Amino acid sequence: MFDVAIIGAGPAGTAAAFDLLTRGLKVLILDKYEFPRKKACAGGITPKGYHLFKYDISSQVKRKCRTVKINPSNKTPFFIQEKKTLCYMTKREDLDLFSLNMVIEKGADFRIIKKIHSIEEKQSSVEIRTDVQSFKASYLIGADGANSVVRRFVSETRRTQQTRFYQKQFAIEADVMMDRPDQYKMEFDFSKIKKGYYWIFPKDDHVNIGIYTIDPNLNLKTQDLFEYAEDKLSNNKLGAIKGYPICTGGFNYRPDSKRILLVGDAAGMAERLLGEGIYFAVKSGQLAAWSILESNPEAEFVKELYSKSLKLIQTDLNLHHYSSKWFYKFPWISLKSLSFRSINRPFAQGYADGKTIAQILFGSLSSKK
Ligand SMILES: Cc1cc2nc3c(=O)[nH]c(=O)nc-3n(C[C@H](O)[C@H](O)[C@H](O)COP(=O)(O)OP(=O)(O)OC[C@H]3O[C@@H](n4cnc5c(N)ncnc54)[C@H](O)[C@@H]3O)c2cc1C
Repeated sequence: MFDVAIIGAGPAGTAAAFDLLTRGLKVLILDKYEFPRKKACAGGITPKGYHLFKYDISSQVKRKCRTVKINPSNKTPFFIQEKKTLCYMTKREDLDLFSLNMVIEKGADFRIIKKIHSIEEKQSSVEIRTDVQSFKASYLIGADGANSVVRRFVSETRRTQQTRFYQKQFAIEADVMMDRPDQYKMEFDFSKIKKGYYWIFPKDDHVNIGIYTIDPNLNLKTQDLFEYAEDKLSNNKLGAIKGYPICTGGFNYRPDSKRILLVGDAAGMAERLLGEGIYFAVKSGQLAAWSILESNPEAEFVKELYSKSLKLIQTDLNLHHYSSKWFYKFPWISLKSLSFRSINRPFAQGYADGKTIAQILFGSLSSKK
């Protein structure tokens, strides 16, 4: 019997595992893939996310970006620059392998499963039946991403108690290998689609490009990526093309089980404006671990503690949600405003200092005389 079973070895799962193992708990991690495995993700980590990792991930950083190019529709691009890093570029398969090895070294039991047959919450444990074997743990953390199976077993069967708390946005991405990725700036290009953007993220030996949209009716096509690469990089040799949903809406997530907690994309913990999810995944994973550690062995308190501890990131997710509505409804006004240094400076400085959107907005409001 394990103290905690975690399904999913992405940033949310390994962040939770790390803290639980640090306090001596017996942790099982299940994933459906052997690592390293490809994960659809551009791997851009904002400073607030980078500094959240409890171990040093500097070896995983492929590039530090201090300049962001913004390309508004039919307008001249503008640049946001800071002395400090605005975004740390990583490669997800490398970062996730690094994190998984870190928790295995700390004592996590990692197993590969192909199918979860059932998840049953009992009086004093949770039982997970898989194609490999059955596992028992005092608690289960569902960290299995946007298409979470744990969520399906736990929350969706309780629709009467809980309205659907998550929404799926979509993104596709690809890598373009090249000798000089540094000739490109990190770029958000809003000129190509209405409710979303194309991106260019330079790494060490390649540039990652992709498309993100909040429009559920827009069918993102790999052909669009080929054309974009040809147009912007004069190179259409795309590798590792992958699309996947990003789960937002987690500001409505309320844990409804005594022994099963959802974290990261499984709980809708990505923001809707730009689709950032790594910070929220790591943070929610750490909060779930903290709730279990603080309430142990009183399972009654786990969901209350987790619920309360999520409040701050849920405020942040909510702020992103409403700003995304406004932003994509009036993109030209939003981008025009953002092009003024007086407006983009507090955001850029705040991000570079590792602040959240709530800290930037409310911090700057409260410091106004
Ligand atoms: C194209 C794209 C680009 C993105 N770019 C960025 C970015 O640059 N920066 C950023 O912050 N966010 C980005 N995101 C969002 C980010 O990838 C996610 O928010 C983040 O990965 C969520 O982490 P997680 O640990 O919750 O889930 P995941 O990273 O999805 O990890 C889930 C894990 O669970 C495993 N799993 C899934 N199902 C099962 C199952 N049934 N049984 C066992 N294991 C299972 C998976 O194999 C995986 O290892 C991007 C997303 C996409 C799709």
